Amino acid sequence: MATTKIIYFVVDGRPEQAEFPSDCPAQDVKEVFRAAAEAGPYDILKLYNTKGNMINISPKLESNIRQTQYKLEVVAADCKTNSLGSELAAALGFDLSAMEKRLQALEKKILVDSADMPSVMYEMRNRVESFRDKLESVEHLSWLGLFKELTEGTNKPSPFYHKRSLRKTKEECQQVMENYLHMRQWEDAEIMVLLQLMYIDLDFMSKFNIEIEVLQQFLFEVYRHYNNIPFHNFKHCFCVTQMMYGLIWLTDLQNKMDDIDILTMLTSAICHDLDHPGYNNAYQINARTELALRYNDISPLENHHCSVAFKILEKSDNNIFRNLTTEQFKRIREGMIKCVLATDMARHNEILNQFRSIMPVFDFNNKKHKDVLTMIIIKVSDISNEARPMDVAEPWLDCLLQEFFNQSDMEKLEGLPVSPFMDRDKVTKPSSQTGFIRFVLLPLFIELANLFPNLEQHIIDPVRKALDYYTEMENALEMEKLNRTGSSQSDKIGKPVENQEESKRVQIQLSQTKP
Ligand code: 5GP
Ligand code: MN
Repeated sequence: MATTKIIYFVVDGRPEQAEFPSDCPAQDVKEVFRAAAEAGPYDILKLYNTKGNMINISPKLESNIRQTQYKLEVVAADCKTNSLGSELAAALGFDLSAMEKRLQALEKKILVDSADMPSVMYEMRNRVESFRDKLESVEHLSWLGLFKELTEGTNKPSPFYHKRSLRKTKEECQQVMENYLHMRQWEDAEIMVLLQLMYIDLDFMSKFNIEIEVLQQFLFEVYRHYNNIPFHNFKHCFCVTQMMYGLIWLTDLQNKMDDIDILTMLTSAICHDLDHPGYNNAYQINARTELALRYNDISPLENHHCSVAFKILEKSDNNIFRNLTTEQFKRIREGMIKCVLATDMARHNEILNQFRSIMPVFDFNNKKHKDVLTMIIIKVSDISNEARPMDVAEPWLDCLLQEFFNQSDMEKLEGLPVSPFMDRDKVTKPSSQTGFIRFVLLPLFIELANLFPNLEQHIIDPVRKALDYYTEMENALEMEKLNRTGSSQSDKIGKPVENQEESKRVQIQLSQTKP
């Protein structure tokens, strides 16, 4: 019978592990390692054991443990080593790409040595280029394999295509389609690029003279200071920031508020959960942690997130605000503190009521009004998972519950009060969402959509759908419970949790951490 093998190895400094049945075809085993190394079809893979001996990548590979992991190396395919490159070089009597490389190096040297490029260099470059054009467009030279059929509308197969190595393999295409349809998780480095793009796209780089290296360093420090915990991690930081970025565009905020306030909002979103330990304020206060002591039980986590943000910004290499005036920095600092502290859910009703009271006379020229709006927008972004497509939102709920359950387990262990909405014996996915959506998400989102009606389709419609989905799930669970206990189906079905009870539960979630 085939057994499953787990092979531990490291590639590019990254620990990886491969799993395959012992009767797996050799080619498939190789493909697994090729994928892990992100190697192309022509790259050569070399696997070494702990003694430094090269070993064969095959289904017969000996299983190992992390301590005796193998080392995988990729030898990149060079254009000269692929068959077309060498065939062409042999046919021409010289290697065109090598010649272009030499020319480039020469150009670079000349540009460095004497700011101007001499005309002879221009002429040389033109000659190489026109030679390449000729090879690519003259049909009777097609045997060289560089000819490109440029005429549109012709079905005549170009001699170019007889080189199979240039065509994508079926497996290669299937892999891309698989990735495309079932989008893999973005990697952290890619997420950092996306965050960087938001600053570029909102024109902050030029408006606030932010150097790209400083932004990159800042984003790296932010990444470093998010912990590996189920929910409040770097990906949550990205989701909140991306929602903020989306809302900025959807509400046309750049035409309604100052750029510096928008920069403050985006940066606040990025920083809003820095160094979250995975245990909420109630735990901090009840367990009398270092943070609760430092901040006297007043929003200990949010105070900490914000403090970490400004510690990162203290270092000039990370300080994206270093080219601003003292006045501008002061304004951003005040704004960021306001925004990050507003994410404490214990202040939810206070902030929402403040917004409700100014809504009838909301004025974009009134600083106080704008301050409340920025707090509302970061709050909306912070709890916006349910506004995302279901297949994105539901795994986030699993992560949140995992973090909640970790906390309640710890509270039980330490003999601390257990938050009921975190207790794995009391909470289910639907019971955690129906009340939260009804009494927290919808009232907040509806209030923001009153000011920006076009938001309805983006944040309210999907949340209503999520409510239907979880209500149905709750009914199904209730039905199952009734069937199991054998009780008669009462009229409870359809409204398994009374509104009052639900509302009470949510209020506990919102108010338990109030100092
Ligand atoms: P954060 O801790 O992320 O700054 O603030 C948001 C808080 O709101 C979370 O810690 C969590 O308690 C609550 N929250 C956010 N999204 C959801 C959700 O989808 N369901 C529930 N039940 N609570 C949520
Ligand atoms: Mn958050």
